[in-house]
Amino acid sequence: MEKGKQQALKRSSSSILVLHDALIVTMDPQNRVFRNGAVAVRADTIVAVGQSQDIISQFSSFSPQLVDLHGHFLLPGFINTHVHTSQQLARGIADDVDLLTWLHDRIWPYESNMTEEDSYISTLLCGLELIHSGVTCFAEAGGQHVSGMVRAIEQLGIRACLTQSVMDAGVGLPASWAKRTTDECIQSQKDLYKKYHNTVDGRIRIWFGLRQIMNSTDRLLTETRDAAKELNVGIHMHVAEIPYENQHVVESRGVDHGTVTYLQKIKLLQDNLLMAHTVWVNEDEIGLLSRSGAKVSHCPAAAMRMLGFAPIKEMISAGVCVSLGTDGAPSNNRMSMVDEMYLASLINKGREVFGKGTTDPTVLPAETILKMATINGAKSVLWDREIGSLEVGKKADLIVVNPFSWSMMPLHDCISSLVYCMRTENITSVMCNGRWIMVDKKIVTLNEEEVIAMAKKASSDLLGRAGIQIPNRMNFL
Ligand SMILES: [Zn+2]
Repeated sequence: MEKGKQQALKRSSSSILVLHDALIVTMDPQNRVFRNGAVAVRADTIVAVGQSQDIISQFSSFSPQLVDLHGHFLLPGFINTHVHTSQQLARGIADDVDLLTWLHDRIWPYESNMTEEDSYISTLLCGLELIHSGVTCFAEAGGQHVSGMVRAIEQLGIRACLTQSVMDAGVGLPASWAKRTTDECIQSQKDLYKKYHNTVDGRIRIWFGLRQIMNSTDRLLTETRDAAKELNVGIHMHVAEIPYENQHVVESRGVDHGTVTYLQKIKLLQDNLLMAHTVWVNEDEIGLLSRSGAKVSHCPAAAMRMLGFAPIKEMISAGVCVSLGTDGAPSNNRMSMVDEMYLASLINKGREVFGKGTTDPTVLPAETILKMATINGAKSVLWDREIGSLEVGKKADLIVVNPFSWSMMPLHDCISSLVYCMRTENITSVMCNGRWIMVDKKIVTLNEEEVIAMAKKASSDLLGRAGIQIPNRMNFL
């Protein structure tokens, strides 16, 4: 994209933009890939997709702005279906510690001491990394200050389904959280919906959040179910993360397996439920997931580090909609969807060794992984009518990949190359809602250096307030 930056920034909203001479991976229902393709965009919408020559002549009388992509790849923007934007300032505060220390001594003190401004800065920093890795839409897993996230999303230029983190039960909660009633949890989310749903050019949607079943009373679960239905939005929840969670549900809620079985029993398991992780599920529960239309966000890095191997192959075979998420910075450290695609392909091939005694390199092929990162992501955030593929009438959320570098050459298999070779650094430009937000690897919506400086200060102040000290490793002098 030479001269791309100048061209991009000058783009007027009414003119037609034609991106041509690109390898276009549409991710549409026919899996079409154009070797020398073009996409035409008017305002925030894709108005044509096809062969370069056809599209250029179709729009020649409109004096379109032509951008020659010189054989670069064009894909739909990636959709990260599970990310904790509030936790970006906590990167590195809980590495190599056990789960209880992770939660009670590091993450809860950190999150409960966050201000609205911290959440804003944390979301900005997280957003930079998301955009660099080609993300144009994400589902927030739940944080304390949704208004701070909204301010950041407005500036970053991406889209998001935001949720507040609510809990009305559980042991060891920080004092400020323990006093919240069920009614307050529901009402505050309804208020957020009223204030922010469908704002900033329609880029923000407000969802309901459930942190996880051990932090939710039955009334919170069922009232969340009803409120989300009434407002026609999704619910984002951590599900079946550790064996203890299932054991707790069996003992306290009288079902024979775990969280998924219980969610089915109380009719929360529906097509508007987005479940993060969902690692510890049995065969019957995979059947329940499939029949309910509930969605699963597979977060391979966090799963390997903290939770275990989810039966993703089995879920996909059963027809469950599985997408990809990075989870938060303290559980993964990298917020790159490119890394997550690579890991998802590898760990699910390797996992086969537990069942078969040998790995299976054919499991989750590259095209399946790309689907998880795009159209399945869009379905998971209930936004697939508008995003997730490059199709006429959908929003112009797209990314440009430069494959002509040491990391991706030679290109014998373009599609596998996107999953097994591509690095975050191969993504050069990102458009969301018809607007360039990254051009030539430079984010144009805000000043990256300023955000990094703000994040450095805010994170050390926050750790000080929360009384979190990270012990030195090795012999620091
Ligand atoms: Zn999470």
